[in-house]
Parts: sequence; structure tokens; C-alpha cells
Amino acid sequence: MWQPELIWTHVVSDALIAAAYFSIPIALITFLRKRPDVEFGKMFWLFALFILSCGLTHLMGIWNLWHGDYAAEAVIKAITAAASVPTAILLWTLLPQALAIPSPSMLQRKNDELAAALAERDAVLAQLRAEVQQRERIEAALVQANKMEAVGQLTGGIAHDFNNLLQAISGNLELIQMLPDNKDKVLRWAANAAQATERGTRLTGQLLTFSRRQRLEATAIDVGNLLRGMSELLRNSVGPTADLQLNVGPDLGVVRSDPTQLELAILNLAINGRDAMPSGGRLLIQAEAESDRVAIRIVDHGVGMTREIVERALEPFFTTKGPGHGTGLGLSMAYGVARAAGGDLRIDSTPGEGTTVTMYLPRAAETEVASHAPGMGTTRSAPTRSADVLLVDDDPEVRQAVADMLRGSGHRVTEAENGPQALLLLERMSPDLMMLDYAMPGMNGAQLAANVLDRMPDLKLLFLTGFADSEAIDAAVDGRARILKKPVSAAALAAAIEELMA
Ligand code: ADP
Ligand code: MG
Repeated sequence: MWQPELIWTHVVSDALIAAAYFSIPIALITFLRKRPDVEFGKMFWLFALFILSCGLTHLMGIWNLWHGDYAAEAVIKAITAAASVPTAILLWTLLPQALAIPSPSMLQRKNDELAAALAERDAVLAQLRAEVQQRERIEAALVQANKMEAVGQLTGGIAHDFNNLLQAISGNLELIQMLPDNKDKVLRWAANAAQATERGTRLTGQLLTFSRRQRLEATAIDVGNLLRGMSELLRNSVGPTADLQLNVGPDLGVVRSDPTQLELAILNLAINGRDAMPSGGRLLIQAEAESDRVAIRIVDHGVGMTREIVERALEPFFTTKGPGHGTGLGLSMAYGVARAAGGDLRIDSTPGEGTTVTMYLPRAAETEVASHAPGMGTTRSAPTRSADVLLVDDDPEVRQAVADMLRGSGHRVTEAENGPQALLLLERMSPDLMMLDYAMPGMNGAQLAANVLDRMPDLKLLFLTGFADSEAIDAAVDGRARILKKPVSAAALAAAIEELMA
């Protein structure tokens, strides 16, 4: 059998097989080194060992053609068997796991599914956002509708109250026109009309306080003095059914507020307390210092308020009293006054037991305390000296009425219906005082005042204005003017002029 072709076919084939076998573990191990993440790493090592020993058996085959070293060959075969059997067994056991490894195409599919789910989520999110926006729009519309309803209630309330007042005024004026010669009756009717006007004044005062457009003349107020000064007014307002008890604590100090408005607020709260006790009871008004603020409490043992009512009580025009009985402005105005003074208002109420309304007002540094006479409106005697007044107002009826009042108090009056006309007049005359409206078409009062301020340093200025504007006026005249609120009584007008001329 020793045929050279046969021998060399064996040798060359075995050598090639061995070379191929040796290269495979090298490739496997190189692969493993570079991809440590690959699963079944141990299996690869075992496989490498197995193939290496297979390669060795082939080398052994070549050796044995010449040497017949069968002991060595047996050892190598035994090693190969030892490596191959566990490899084969392990391979079978790993098969299910290997099958579970997702193929690239499966991964791709999963990826696509994931991308689709993400896109779907984005779409849902976008829809959600759109719904939220839609809802916000609806809520804004609702707020707007509520506002409109509030404005409707508000204007309705004002119109209702003013119609009553106008009725009282016009009715009495008509009576006067019909029977002008019956002096007693005329005086009574005039007094009735004046009373209605005063009610209207209070109403607009409350409205403006609520709208924060009222000029609040904040001065330092001694709360104790203010309350003691009001006691008569309070007793008259809550009596005779309610029994008023006034407890003014010591060392209350001063607060900064508008005294008239603060009085009105306290009065409103007291009247609320009285209204809450239809069959009478004790109404306690108590003021005490609490660290850096003064608490003014109005305590009644009346019907109390439900939570719903407490929640709405500060709303302007919210009232549970029938038409003609409540304006719904008392609490809102008291709240406005407290806030304007840098304080707060608190309602504690239990239905059936009573209510405590507390105004908290921050204490101010104890500077000069303005003396303030309690009660609305001031009465003064006739002027000590008459003045030359230039009266500027675009409303002919107002101008006429004010001019007549001024003349009635002994002053000389020249009228102008607008700013330019007033300026023309001022070139020819130099009055003691210019009395002017703020809101006028073309040139407003502040502009007119600014125009004459430098040229006529001695000219006194008195604004008679419906509301607000006070900041614009202050800015324009730099504190050189006095401001009166419309409507103004003849007495208040006379007093202001007297004060200015003094
Ligand atoms: P008005 O007194 O004109 O109704 P207010 O603003 O003063 O307006 O009060 C609003 C509402 O709050 C009242 O209609 C009433 O229902 C309730 N209220 C206010 N004060 C009291 C109180 N002391 N006891 C019970 N209810 C009160
Ligand atoms: Mg009230």
C-alpha cells in the first residue's frame, strides 16, 4: 500500500485540514475579543478548543504515516473526544436560547413597531394639547360671560338705585315748579330732593371706593378718636332695635386711611350687623391693637351667613336683601377701604349664631394726626370775603348750578365753557381763583392748569371732578390745587373757597 500518490494525498489533505482547523479558533477568539457583548462566550471557547484538537488529530495522522506513534495519537483523540462531547451536548442545550435571539429582521420589525407606537403617542399628545387649548378657550369665554353677567348686574343695580333717586329728585322739583309760592312746602320738597342727592353721593362714593378710582385722602387717623367721635352717629344708625356697645382699647395708635371713607365703612358694617338682628340684640364694635395693626371688629349675634354667602359677600352688588333694601356695596366698600389702607378684611360667621367682620389696618408712624370732624358734609358760616372766580366747565347745567351756588355765597363769577376760552379770559382778567372741571373735550382741566401755573403764580386752583383723575391732576399742578368731588354741596364749596383764600 506504500504508494507515494496515496501517501502525499493524505499528507497534503491532512495538512490543509489542520491549517483550516487552526485558523478557525483564531478567527473565533479574535471575534470574541472584539465583541465581548456576544452571548454564549464560553461555548465559543469550548468550540475553539474542540476544533483545535481536531486539527491536532490531523497533524498526528501525518506524523503516524512514518512513525506509527499510536499512543500519542490516542492521547490526542481522547482530548478531542473530551472536548467534542461536552461541546455537542452544550450546543443542544443552548439551542432554544440561541433560537430566542432575535434575528436582524425581527429586530427591524420591532423597531418599526416601536416607531409606530411613538408616532401614535405623539399624535395623542398633540390631540390632548389641542383639547387643553380648546378648554382654555372655553374657560376664558366662560369667565368673559361671567364678567358680562356681573357688569349686567352691576349696571342694573346702579340703574335701579339711581332711578329711585332721580325719581325723588325730579318729583320734588316738579312739585316746586307747580307750587313755587308755597314757601313751606317748597322748602320741604327742596330738602327731600337734597336728601336724595346725598344718598346718590354716598352711593357713587361707595362705587368709586370699590372701583379704587375714588381719591382716597389718606391721612393719619387716631382710630380711637374716630370711633368715639362716631358713637352718636352709630347709635342713631343701629338703634333703636340694636344695643350698641363700643369697646375702644388703649394705645391703638394711628392708621393711614381716608377718615370719611373709614367712617362710612364702619357705619356700613354696623348697619349690616343691625340688619342681621331683625328682632334686636347687642352689637359690639371693638377696636384693639394687635402688634403692628389695629383690628376693628363688628360683632353681632344675628342670622349669620352660610359659606356660600361668605364667599360672595365681598362682591359688589351682592346682596341677599330685597330690592330697595340692600345695595350690596357695604362690604365691598369696607374691603376696598381696608385694602387701600394696606390692610385686610375678614368675615367669620356661623349661621344662626352671628357674624364678626374684622377690618385690619396697619399702624402708621405716629405723626401729626389730622383732626377730623365726624359725620358727612361740613357746614360753615358765610364767607368772610368774596372772591373773583373763573369757573370752567363744559357742562352748562353743572356750570350754571355751581355758578349760582358761588354767587349765593357772595362770590363774583365769570364762566368759561372750555380751556381755550378760559385762557382768552385770563388775558383780560386776573381772578383770585380758577375753578375747573377735569374731563373736558379738547383741553382737559390738568392741561389748562399746567398752562397757567407758571404765568399766574398767585392764581388759586380748585378742581371739581367726578372721579379718579386725581393723579393726573396732582402730576400737572404739583400740589398747588385743591380737589373737590362732585357732587358738592354749597356749604362744602364755600368752605373750600374760604380755606383757599385764607
Ligand atoms: P347689603 O348690606 O347692601 O346687602 P353688603 O355688601 O353690606 O350689602 O352685604 C352683602 C351681603 O352679605 C348681605 O346682603 C348679607 O347677606 C351678608 N351680610 C353682610 N353682613 C352680614 C352680617 N353681619 N350678618 C349676616 N349677613 C351679612
Ligand atoms: Mg350692607
